[in-house]
Amino acid sequence: MPAKLQWIEDELNNLKESGLYNRIRTLNSPQGAWLEVDGQRVLNFCSNNYLGLANHPRIVDAARQAAADYGVGPAAVRTIAGTMDLHLRLEKRLAAFKGVAASITFQSGFNANLGCIPALVGKGDVIFSDELNHASIIDGSRLSRAEIVRYAHCDVQDLQRSLDEKRAEFNRALVITDGVFSMDGDVAPLDEIYTVCNDYNVMLMVDDAHGEGVLGTGGRGIVDHYQLHGKVDVEIGTLSKAFGVVGGIVSGDPLIVEWLHQRGRPFLFSSAMTVPDVAACLAAVDILEESTELVDRLWENTNYFKGEMRRLGFDTGMSTTPITPVMLGEASLAQEFSRELFKQGVFAMSIGFPTVPRGKARIRVMISAAHQQDDLDQGLAAFSRVGRQLGVIN
Ligand SMILES: *Cc1c(COP(=O)(O)O)cnc(C)c1O
Repeated sequence: MPAKLQWIEDELNNLKESGLYNRIRTLNSPQGAWLEVDGQRVLNFCSNNYLGLANHPRIVDAARQAAADYGVGPAAVRTIAGTMDLHLRLEKRLAAFKGVAASITFQSGFNANLGCIPALVGKGDVIFSDELNHASIIDGSRLSRAEIVRYAHCDVQDLQRSLDEKRAEFNRALVITDGVFSMDGDVAPLDEIYTVCNDYNVMLMVDDAHGEGVLGTGGRGIVDHYQLHGKVDVEIGTLSKAFGVVGGIVSGDPLIVEWLHQRGRPFLFSSAMTVPDVAACLAAVDILEESTELVDRLWENTNYFKGEMRRLGFDTGMSTTPITPVMLGEASLAQEFSRELFKQGVFAMSIGFPTVPRGKARIRVMISAAHQQDDLDQGLAAFSRVGRQLGVIN
């Protein structure tokens, strides 16, 4: 190693000593309720595969068929090589599913935020951002070079106070919130946030990454959950969670979508979603529109698991969604808890700084419609044993 890279080794050692080093497991199987991880069969409590679509036979078939018809790669950015009708079809279907006028896809939810925020605000403008917003919102906001004003988590009064104090100093203003907060599983009070945005006449953007396929009628997302159709200016979404594939989406007024065709940098400078991804997402929309069965099962599983965890004495924080944080405090304890669970055949990762604040480390359990009752019971039994062994519960 060249001496000029020594600092990296030092930093990595710091991470290892403080229990913040990410050790990435290798999967030898498709995503599902059970996985083969590092050669061991384990119960999967980690993935965002809310509806079990990541390996759904209809979705796999759609991807295979589309590759046979269209090949795989889009071969250049859409503004240069042209756009495939498949991508347009997906954008129309997603807009209809979510009850919005128009949608545009990006390569990922992360890219959707990086593309959308700097297109809406810039130097001289201001962003009011929930303090627990996702990293991609933070990065998109920084890229925009607008002033960033953080307001207290889900605190509408603090948002209003910030608007009173700062709004007048800037040109355009944009309020951004996660819909469902990815590490805590609580839901933004979007109805109240909308009212404030409407009073102050500022743009409102919500990132519905963990709400799509989860909240609202048949998984139509947070805007449907609050019946705010036509009132939220921009909805960001991802196709990598409940949809089980990969890709990002921005939905809203056709004017915003047209603007992003012209000014969304990841749209202009990076190739589109691949053909199998798009076809797989189209099949996912079909499945969601045909029946609410998977979404219903997701919620039944969620309510059962969380109720039992609380009964065992675990602190599941502020969550009201399938995201189930098991609050442990120190990162080292969370890591040890995760390792002990793994020995008992349960794959549930610990999450620490910088993904969550220091001292708020946790195990995050992700419930899925793919879990059977018996899977959940096995998971609960393992949590109970490890929790007692490590003195977290009595
Ligand atoms: C996961 C997530 C993203 C990123 O989505 P990808 O499609 O995986 O890039 C963006 N925003 C929020 C709130 C998320 O939870």
